[in-house]
Amino acid sequence: MTIKAATAANTSVTTTQQWQRMDAQHHFHPFSNNADIRAEGSRIIERAEGCHLWDSDGKQYLDAFAGLWCVNLGYGRQELVQAASQQMQQLPYYNLFFKTTTTPVIELAHEIADIAPSHMNQVFFTGSGSEANDTVFRMVRRYWDIQNQPERKIIIGRKNGYHGSTVAGASLGGMPGMHKQGDLPIAGVEHVDQPYWYGEGGDLTPHEFGVRAARSLEEKIKALGSHKVAAFIAEPIQGAGGVIIPPDSYWPEIQRIVKKYGILLVVDEVICGFGRTGEWFGSQYYHLQPDLMPIAKGLSSGYLPIGGVVMADHFAETLAKGGDFNHGYTYSGHPVCAAVALENVRILKRERIVERVKDDIGPKFQQAIATLADHPLVGEVRGVGLLGAIELVKDRTTRLRYPDEGSTGTLCRDMALQDGLVLRATGDTMMMSPPLVINDQHLDELITKTKSALDKTWHRLKGK
Ligand SMILES: *Cc1c(COP(=O)(O)O)cnc(C)c1O
Repeated sequence: MTIKAATAANTSVTTTQQWQRMDAQHHFHPFSNNADIRAEGSRIIERAEGCHLWDSDGKQYLDAFAGLWCVNLGYGRQELVQAASQQMQQLPYYNLFFKTTTTPVIELAHEIADIAPSHMNQVFFTGSGSEANDTVFRMVRRYWDIQNQPERKIIIGRKNGYHGSTVAGASLGGMPGMHKQGDLPIAGVEHVDQPYWYGEGGDLTPHEFGVRAARSLEEKIKALGSHKVAAFIAEPIQGAGGVIIPPDSYWPEIQRIVKKYGILLVVDEVICGFGRTGEWFGSQYYHLQPDLMPIAKGLSSGYLPIGGVVMADHFAETLAKGGDFNHGYTYSGHPVCAAVALENVRILKRERIVERVKDDIGPKFQQAIATLADHPLVGEVRGVGLLGAIELVKDRTTRLRYPDEGSTGTLCRDMALQDGLVLRATGDTMMMSPPLVINDQHLDELITKTKSALDKTWHRLKGK
């Protein structure tokens, strides 16, 4: 990478190349190839407003990914800035340990209990979704100890699930690329099939396949011995795995199985929570009865880091009976983060944004992305609410993918970036998760630019 010499006149203006050089020298990136960053430089995002981002060259992008599935209210909401500033002045920090609390945390827990399924009324706060799932791991085992069933230790997750990046989070998740690094999963975690009909359903109907994927949980429980299984954890809709929408038969069958074997159900709401599906929680969209719901991301629209675990009443009562719970984070329910999350939830309510996703912009978004299904590169378009996925394939009838899986998705993502659109690729699946405040005009921009990225990708691939 070449560095433009800074002239005496513009030393105060740092150029993109200078930023990139400093970044490559001193900042080691998460989920990135840091050798590539050294060779090519990273993208530098400088500011944002509404649904748009601007990079350090002043180029504008439509953020069809809401940061990382989290900026549900869009960028630049002054109420959130003020909530943070006001709380910073009044009480910038205090902890929740040793029988202490703060007022934004009390109010936030109250608001979450109000929107959560009616049998869930207590919240344990964390700093992130990964911490929420580490908390789940410890809570679940603690729960069974208190119930005098200490043998129930195993937590079952799913292949290609995502539950965060800490040791417990990455173990509960089923990402092979993560498991390979650091000898994961840790002991006591098992994985079963995902309900990914397009990728793994073969000749089965979605209904048949959904039941079969769910039954892999029952088979695993039987193989392990049901008295040893503590919980099953899953996302309502897998996000990072590729926006995998389970067939309608899947969740009812899972619900039957966890009930039959008396196993706790942990529904990871980190993406689906706070309106993404058109309901407050994915559990409501699929009519689930979770015992625990990890939350994060949309809880604060990403403005500040905060997460938590929402507990069913019976679970919280049991845990409380057990005496001291020896778990917590310095920043559990950080008051500034809680104040921002509180205002975020209140805005979602006041402006009826979740209802809007359900009745207006969600259906429009689904209709709009469905128009891309005819494209010669597209095998399937799917989505719920404001989640969408487009599978890129070489052969639409046989679902055959291009060789070197992932390279086509990356190419399409880069073509979109050139056009000023941020999409994300998992393998060769393009994913969308725009801010919930996306409007009709943004939607037109999203579809026009996605279509253009698909065309460019298609021509590149044909040219080869
Ligand atoms: C992002 C995510 C997490 C992890 O949250 P972090 O805040 O990144 O730690 C956990 N579960 C799901 C479903 C997620 O999408």
